[in-house]
Amino acid sequence: MDVKQTILIGNFGSPCISSLDIAEEKYRVALETFSILCETDTKGNIIYANRLFCEMYGYELEELIGSRPHFLDSGVHDREFLSQMRGKLARKEVWHGEICNQSKSGELHWLATTIIPIISPKNSQIEKLVSIQFDVTDRFNLIQKIDSLARYDPLTELPNRTELAHQFEDHRNNPARYGTHFAVAIVNLDDFKSVNDAYGQHMGDELLIQVAERIKLELRPEDVVARIGGDEFALILCHAEMPLERVFKRLLSSLKKPFVIDGMLVKLSASIGIRLCGDADVVGIDQALRHASIALYRAKSESGDCYRIFDCDEAAKARKLFQLHNEIHNGFTGNEFEAYFQPIVHLATSKVVGFESLLRWRHPVRGLLLPREFLPTIENDTLIIRVGEWMLRQALKFSQTLFEANLPHLVSVNIAALHLQHPAFVGLVKSLLQHHSILPPGSLTIEITESAALTNIRTATNVIMRCKKLGVKFALDDFGTGFSPLTYLRQLPIDGLKIDRLFTKNILINDEDLCIVRIVAQLSEIFGLRIVAEGIENSEQAKVLRDLNCEYGQGFGIAPPMPAAEALAWAQGKTSPDTNQTQRKVVHRILSY
Ligand code: C2E
Ligand code: CA
Ligand code: CA
Repeated sequence: MDVKQTILIGNFGSPCISSLDIAEEKYRVALETFSILCETDTKGNIIYANRLFCEMYGYELEELIGSRPHFLDSGVHDREFLSQMRGKLARKEVWHGEICNQSKSGELHWLATTIIPIISPKNSQIEKLVSIQFDVTDRFNLIQKIDSLARYDPLTELPNRTELAHQFEDHRNNPARYGTHFAVAIVNLDDFKSVNDAYGQHMGDELLIQVAERIKLELRPEDVVARIGGDEFALILCHAEMPLERVFKRLLSSLKKPFVIDGMLVKLSASIGIRLCGDADVVGIDQALRHASIALYRAKSESGDCYRIFDCDEAAKARKLFQLHNEIHNGFTGNEFEAYFQPIVHLATSKVVGFESLLRWRHPVRGLLLPREFLPTIENDTLIIRVGEWMLRQALKFSQTLFEANLPHLVSVNIAALHLQHPAFVGLVKSLLQHHSILPPGSLTIEITESAALTNIRTATNVIMRCKKLGVKFALDDFGTGFSPLTYLRQLPIDGLKIDRLFTKNILINDEDLCIVRIVAQLSEIFGLRIVAEGIENSEQAKVLRDLNCEYGQGFGIAPPMPAAEALAWAQGKTSPDTNQTQRKVVHRILSY
């Protein structure tokens, strides 16, 4: 080579540009010694190859000279790659890149390659091509290995979660090949931990390898099996527009057949959670897996050894509920909750004896909300405990205000089942009463529903007994609407019953309800229970109740639930803004029929 020109040399894969006079002997020697060199003429025939070239590809120099280097093709590179290379050389530009070539023995080698078109100074045409290569196979293999570790599970050689996500996208972008519908499933072995514990990790690993093989056998080649956790495999099944039930049944029964590991038989079963994805469904892999794992949880909790399909409608409901729950939580912490108080009166004398506290939510957009619009959402959540505590505080504060004003000061608070059974409940009541030690015993009544009292009657009895020692009274709310057998009335250490407003409403029109209220009133007398009728809306109801010996009552006909200040004014006999009459007169009108 005696032509002076600027060339680019691949520097072990990280190309750098250097100006090199290839006519200079010292560079020529260096290139000859350290690189794999060859030259071709403009027709592509080899005209020169150095010793390293011959050694690399396993050919004698005589075999090479005059032949075209196509025999080195490994088949790894596509047409585009090759035409891009040829295009560049035809434009008399230097080409760089990594080429995979095949040696005579069939071995593949990766080579950092620079091909330089040598231009004739006479006619400015390409005279020949010089190829300079460095063997980077080791580095390439290392990168491949690192890449594979990042995308594949080393134990089962299945794709991992990253590769699964990649293949999920690939499937979605290729409807012609994979169909428009597919299923994402999670297969989890039932009780795999006990296999690991009993036989050791080596057998556990061996089992996972065999499980992976079995799953693959049951699926089609275009489906995907990945390992995404210890004993958890994720599947992508294509063409799910066809029913896939058979596939899942087959998979479950295949996994139930015994595995032979180190000459031992190991039996297990699996559970599968499935998320079906339609073409209009814009679900991502993370969401699909989350849904599949909800379905898996159901499969596990129902019996195991079965599959369950995620129900999208159910999930939408759950999401709505979750949002409502969040809104309620924010409403509570944002001080939007209010305590209202509804008077309870002695029906025979029209005298007010106390108040029932009732929760309200002053919603910034929807206005004043009643408990039925939000309490059921949090009934089984710890938020109900915080709300219950807050109501107890409001009620006792109100009671103390009444007491200090020398007014009837008894207060009732509704307490949910979850709160009543909370281990800290009695301690809470005790400390609140200590805080209001001015109040005489018996000032606070806790109203519990039949279900709260009866779902765990032993705990409820225990809590009631301990609270009673603190001077707290208990009333069974909504009496008659549940199924409490009368024997429970004897068992539960309660002080009173509240007749539900459904009965009050019906006593004038329904003989059976009238009869029930009569029996309840008689029973209350026998058991020494105080009874309060709810929902008295008119004087006829008040009269019938009084005649049935129902001692106390409350209802819109007497007074509605009111904010504390209004309820205080009402108790003091001041004018109500609603009715423009003194409430005592109203009470009297209702009750002195
Ligand atoms: P409840 O304990 O049976 O409360 C009586 C309900 O009857 C109250 O409804 C009250 O406003 C309503 N009411 C009173 N008089 C009349 C009347 O003459 N006619 C009619 N139609 N209704 C009347 P509210 O305030 O909507 O409460 C509904 C339920 O929510 C309560 O039923 C109680 O079970 C629950 N609740 C209310 N406040 C709380 C609370 O602070 N904690 C808990 N855990 N539950 C509460
Ligand atoms: Ca109540
Ligand atoms: Ca009630």
